[in-house]
Amino acid sequence: MRNVCTAAPQLAGLEPYDPKYLPAEAFLSANENPHDVEQDIRAEIMREVKRVPLNRYPDPLANDLRDMIAEANGLDRDQVLVGNGGDELLFNLALAWGGPGRTFLNLPPTFSVYDANARLTNTTVVNVPRREDFSIDEEAVLARLDEGDIDFLIVTSPNNPTGELANEEFILRVLDATDALVVVDEAYFEFSRQTMRPYLAQHKNLAILRTFSKAFSLAGVRMGYLLADAEVVREFVKVRQPYSVDAVSQAIARVVYQNRAKFEPGIRTIIEERTRVIEGLRMIPGVKPFPSDANYVLFHVENAAQLWEMLYGRGILVRDFSRAPHLKDCLRVSIGSPEENDAFLKALRDAVMGKC
Ligand code: PMP
Repeated sequence: MRNVCTAAPQLAGLEPYDPKYLPAEAFLSANENPHDVEQDIRAEIMREVKRVPLNRYPDPLANDLRDMIAEANGLDRDQVLVGNGGDELLFNLALAWGGPGRTFLNLPPTFSVYDANARLTNTTVVNVPRREDFSIDEEAVLARLDEGDIDFLIVTSPNNPTGELANEEFILRVLDATDALVVVDEAYFEFSRQTMRPYLAQHKNLAILRTFSKAFSLAGVRMGYLLADAEVVREFVKVRQPYSVDAVSQAIARVVYQNRAKFEPGIRTIIEERTRVIEGLRMIPGVKPFPSDANYVLFHVENAAQLWEMLYGRGILVRDFSRAPHLKDCLRVSIGSPEENDAFLKALRDAVMGKC
């Protein structure tokens, strides 16, 4: 008799997350920061990294970095947790708050990793789809929470890939309406400047997720963090891999965080460019950009899949959501350098006008 080697049943039909990395001249598909870390900060990073003992395990909880983040946010160390990118913390969330017999409320279209993590952990997913304009169906969410079976939800603000902020009043109503853990994913907070941070003290069921990948130009390093009540953090610590944040990444992130004020001009440029890209998109016949408070813009255009190909043919990589549920004929462009944004707008205009 042959042994049959089968993976866990919840993996059947699950596609691995595909960031669609393809070579391109203008890489406008992953919402990264177009400005790499500046040379003076890099030099400081190099000095710090040289001193990192490589033969020793890293500080499991990255306490020095935790302290810096805590201090900057007026919190204590035990209200902060760092992870190997926000992605790791999102996975930890599904492990700690999900599982068989547990229920996650999702607000699609949103970051696809949430749904995938729930499926991996055999968590039941309840979807409350957004409205046509991608705003949250607030009353439907509150009504669903009233049923009392939701264990956790994620409110993404600004939402990825659609770009709009969640309403603060609504999040406060949700926090009051439920004992479920309410995670506000603020991965793009530095571009929106809106945060739920002031409400952490009053709401023990609020957790905030942030990342170094966007505003702080560290997508290559993998560093994210959670701000939450100490009891929530303790539960996350139970499920995390002990050494998931390596010593070199900790050293790099400490230097970058200490220098975070120096990233402000770059962030301001991205915000200004976002306005320019949205205006540029509005000028192209048949193209409908959605408002954005993040470092990317979602837009609707007929024959989006074909236009994606045409853009890629011109060396410009954007994210194709045209076949994703709720996002028919939508593409998402990350805000790049002014030159990349110009090249993108010109290529899209040419493609729409049939000049390719
Ligand atoms: N949340 C959202 C909404 C995101 O878009 C991303 C990155 N694409 C993350 C979390 C995770 O970011 P990272 O793992 O790079 O910290």
